[in-house]
Amino acid sequence: MGIDIARASFEEIGEEHVGTSFETPLREDAFEMDDDLKVELIEKHFREIMNIMGLDLTDDSLKGTPHRVAKMYVKEVFSGLNPKNKPAAKLFENKYKYNEMLVEKDITFHSHCEHHFVPIYGKAHVAYISNGSVIGLSKINRIVQYFSKRPQVQERLTMQIGNELIEVLGTQDVAVIMDAYHMCVSSRGVNDTNSSTVTSFFSGKFKHDEQSRNEFLKYIALEK
Ligand SMILES: [Zn+2]
Repeated sequence: MGIDIARASFEEIGEEHVGTSFETPLREDAFEMDDDLKVELIEKHFREIMNIMGLDLTDDSLKGTPHRVAKMYVKEVFSGLNPKNKPAAKLFENKYKYNEMLVEKDITFHSHCEHHFVPIYGKAHVAYISNGSVIGLSKINRIVQYFSKRPQVQERLTMQIGNELIEVLGTQDVAVIMDAYHMCVSSRGVNDTNSSTVTSFFSGKFKHDEQSRNEFLKYIALEK
């Protein structure tokens, strides 16, 4: 099961943007500290970053920023680091014997580039072929959001969602395509505001059966 870069030319996938492993690199002791202590410590350090930049932290508009950023990191935008926040996916029996392809497209996601800590945002398109069980559609959204709420590289994010769906659904027949904008490309560096990056994950029939793959691609009709 590999990852295919469908349109690699849409972004320079240089050394800055290639992740090192499929698993998010986390230390063993990542969750020994509780969330409130993490917020407290990050707040202290973020205040220091602002201080070093010469910002006046007694200013009414700025004084709450270290706390807001710390809380946002731990409880919102990076909450998907903690396995306790992983959505529990309940399976339903496929009573109506739907064994065609199910496609959920245009799932909006917001993540953060792990190299620059600025947003990556875009759309995810997911498909699977049921082996007799289905999950609620909102669960697919939740799985996408959970893995998005980590410092990420888009290739890893795509694979993590794909592998999770294989596990939850008990089928290899899973496909994920993500089409995203990277603020580290648009707002700095090369300042390219138009390019998007497309990554794909094809497993089972989507990998081996061209007809299934093409059917999925037709449904999501990537061209805008
Ligand atoms: Zn970046």
